[in-house]
Amino acid sequence: MLIKSVRSTLPNLKRETFAGISGALLLLLCLSLQIDAQSAQPAANVSRETQTSKVNQSNSTKTVIAPTYLTLGKSVKGHDITAMIYGKGKKRVLVFGGIHGDEENTTVVARSLAVHLNTETLPQNLTVIIVPDVNPDGLLAQTRVNANGVDINRNFPSKTWRADYTEQRRFPGLKPSSEPETRAVLDLLERYPPHLVVTLHAAMGCVNWDGPQGAFAALILTSINNYPLCATLGYDTPGSLGLLTGVDKQIPTVTIELRAENASTLVEENLPALLSLLKQFAAK
Ligand SMILES: [Zn+2]
Repeated sequence: MLIKSVRSTLPNLKRETFAGISGALLLLLCLSLQIDAQSAQPAANVSRETQTSKVNQSNSTKTVIAPTYLTLGKSVKGHDITAMIYGKGKKRVLVFGGIHGDEENTTVVARSLAVHLNTETLPQNLTVIIVPDVNPDGLLAQTRVNANGVDINRNFPSKTWRADYTEQRRFPGLKPSSEPETRAVLDLLERYPPHLVVTLHAAMGCVNWDGPQGAFAALILTSINNYPLCATLGYDTPGSLGLLTGVDKQIPTVTIELRAENASTLVEENLPALLSLLKQFAAK
């Protein structure tokens, strides 16, 4: 029932009612609409790359800072995978949500950061790039894996990638980078080499890190969201984004494993944590 309503609703955000949708998805949809309403470039008309612009709203004192939208590629089923780029600073922070489609709260938290940045000016030395929905087919189907049944977070071409797997839901694909969703992220990493990577997952309720200074970032986050640190997740993650960027590429990488909580609580505790991380990283 839920899957059916999500499938029918997402492509028609502005026409459909929200009846029958879970709290997390409802908040996600509201945030999507907020982004559309606030930006000068509606998501429905996303071009390959558009220019950042400022829009003065006649009835409001706030200035809306529209992000630059960048279409990274398409999912297996043809849905756009889109990045929102804020700022033009030399220090680049990449934030990824929705790598696993059944962790929709990660998309909600990533979108909440985008909504916040729509009206807040970033430190001048910072660029923040948010990909809230890496695996849109998985989100629509409420599955961890993409439409080919591949776990995107086991499909990255890290040195640890391996073909064997223990559970079907962790199927790594027949070879690394076999999936369009994986290649979309890789394309972004190449075009905008990051200095800090933030990935969002659920629902272990802790903060994990990889790479140099990853622990620094993790400590900032946990000082605000009050999650415990988790140096390991208790199982191997070959072919994960964190191992590719953090270990192989030596880019500070931090993973927030959200708690099993409702979406608004997760935004309340993690949006301030993310903003604090951005501020301290800019000042570093
Ligand atoms: Zn996950």
